[in-house]
Amino acid sequence: MTAANLQWTCNRAYKGRFHIGPEARATMLGFLQHGPRMFEAGGVLIGRHLIGGEDIIVDQVTTPLRGDKRSRFSFYRAHKRHQRAVDRAWKASGGVYTYLGEWHTHAEPVPTPSGLDERERIRILETAQCSHPIFFVVLGTESARIWEVASFDDFQEIHPEGKTDDIPRAVVASSSELHT
Ligand SMILES: [Zn+2]
Repeated sequence: MTAANLQWTCNRAYKGRFHIGPEARATMLGFLQHGPRMFEAGGVLIGRHLIGGEDIIVDQVTTPLRGDKRSRFSFYRAHKRHQRAVDRAWKASGGVYTYLGEWHTHAEPVPTPSGLDERERIRILETAQCSHPIFFVVLGTESARIWEVASFDDFQEIHPEGKTDDIPRAVVASSSELHT
């Protein structure tokens, strides 16, 4: 998969857009399981809610850390180390950057959530202390799928808004006005 055939801006489940910025994309693309022995990788999504709308941008992602359990077909995130990265980003940005969700890879062209993924979603919802929806990004070797999860019974796959690989101009322009 190249950046060109992965859509990075999706329409959110109800209102607004969900966008994955260039740094976060580049990091995740480096972990795609193209090799027959590559293990799953993953981490958390860190980014911001834009003021004056429902748009959300992922700016950074964490990558596998010590304590994570990885195999060809599973990824367990060690919660505390990734949480520390979120806390650092939050502090360094004066409360702008926050936890937005999770990402991991799959060793298949188009990812299908596993039973483990379902259990993880429930566990994360149970422990997440946030009032906003959480996003789950799963990257196969040829395409990615993204879910917006508002609650245990409200999780929806979200889809690209168009063909462009560029950051929409309006989103860039409003990024100086932020809230958390
Ligand atoms: Zn999975």
